[in-house]
Amino acid sequence: MATPEITVRGAGIFGLSIAWACHRRGAPVQIVDPHGPGAGSSGGIVGALAPHVPENWNPKKAFQLDSLLMAERFWAEVEATGGVSPGYGRLGRLQPIADDRGLQLAVQRCDSAADLWQGRAIWEVRPAAEFGEWHPPSATGMVIHDTLSARIHPRQACAALVAALRAGGVEVVPDAPDLGLVMHATGYQGLLEMNAEATRSVGNGVKGQAALLQFDAGQVPQLYADGLHIIPHADGTLAIGSTSERDFTHPADTDSQLEEVIARARRAVPQLEGAAILSRWAGVRPRARTRAPMLGEWPGRRGHFIANGGFKIGFGMAPRIADVMADLLLEGRDAIPAGFRVSDNL
Ligand SMILES: Cc1cc2nc3c(=O)[nH]c(=O)nc-3n(C[C@H](O)[C@H](O)[C@H](O)COP(=O)(O)OP(=O)(O)OC[C@H]3O[C@@H](n4cnc5c(N)ncnc54)[C@H](O)[C@@H]3O)c2cc1C
Repeated sequence: MATPEITVRGAGIFGLSIAWACHRRGAPVQIVDPHGPGAGSSGGIVGALAPHVPENWNPKKAFQLDSLLMAERFWAEVEATGGVSPGYGRLGRLQPIADDRGLQLAVQRCDSAADLWQGRAIWEVRPAAEFGEWHPPSATGMVIHDTLSARIHPRQACAALVAALRAGGVEVVPDAPDLGLVMHATGYQGLLEMNAEATRSVGNGVKGQAALLQFDAGQVPQLYADGLHIIPHADGTLAIGSTSERDFTHPADTDSQLEEVIARARRAVPQLEGAAILSRWAGVRPRARTRAPMLGEWPGRRGHFIANGGFKIGFGMAPRIADVMADLLLEGRDAIPAGFRVSDNL
């Protein structure tokens, strides 16, 4: 079978990663986005690549584990090719343990993680004091430490993919006619367009607001405390996120809900008190009806494919999704896991 040409519509993390995977396998690729790369929810600042809880295993968790484990190599190749850092670092994560029940559960999960994560990452319960000054206050004095979580800088990761693709002669253009197979990775706008054609809701947007602080924590684990991701980036900044808003009028505006998130983060990690706020950002996550990614051929539109529904873990899922979609587009090989199909959402 001759390698088909690929047109990718949408230059967020899904579109760029799929374009990269297809390009690396030798396919001619063009990327079309009228708003430019990283213009949607992928142009943000948080970047927690964090695992699901290691229990009640299912295809979604297994797929995400594969993706998190392959991320290091994926991003190293992107950086080596284009010369732009995505800010990737697998530095783990700390979570406080609030009470005895939480402690009991966390200890049980040490065993399930050893089994489910196949010894490739650790989930352990440790005294918070072992992590020096950098840990969230914990009522039990204990924290969950996992070595699977990584951080990335989303906006820089998009720039790194653009640079890597450009090194191979692939540019993101604002407009171009379809050539060959067409990959629609158009984020929440794409979900809204599908809703207009469907008999029931395919998905919707969930707005999130986040803040970037001037705070150089060094090469330390990210924190997850009081429902917030606190991500020390490689460049001496630190991100805090996020709100989760199903009802919103202004997709890109920040408001008092973000100020509350910042205040909560400062209560959870008192060192952040006084750190200057560099920027406030809002984006709209694409949430498919099933909450899982929606991948595959577009029913009734031969030669057209969909990759959408990254919701809150789009960056964590992107390396594996890129692989699976390149398999499908270039080789006709369908390795999409149960529950991730376009048809599950239509
Ligand atoms: C505040 C916040 C915090 C987040 N934190 C994390 C996190 O910590 N970890 C994580 O993994 N994920 C996180 N996410 C989720 C992650 O950002 C998303 O899952 C991901 O960005 C989705 O990528 P995407 O490429 O599908 O969509 P998008 O990034 O939205 O890209 C879609 C692109 O399609 C383009 N487009 C739209 N219509 C068309 C068209 N007709 N033709 C061509 N192009 C079109 C748009 O311009 C846009 O560039 C967060 C999101 C938010 C908002």
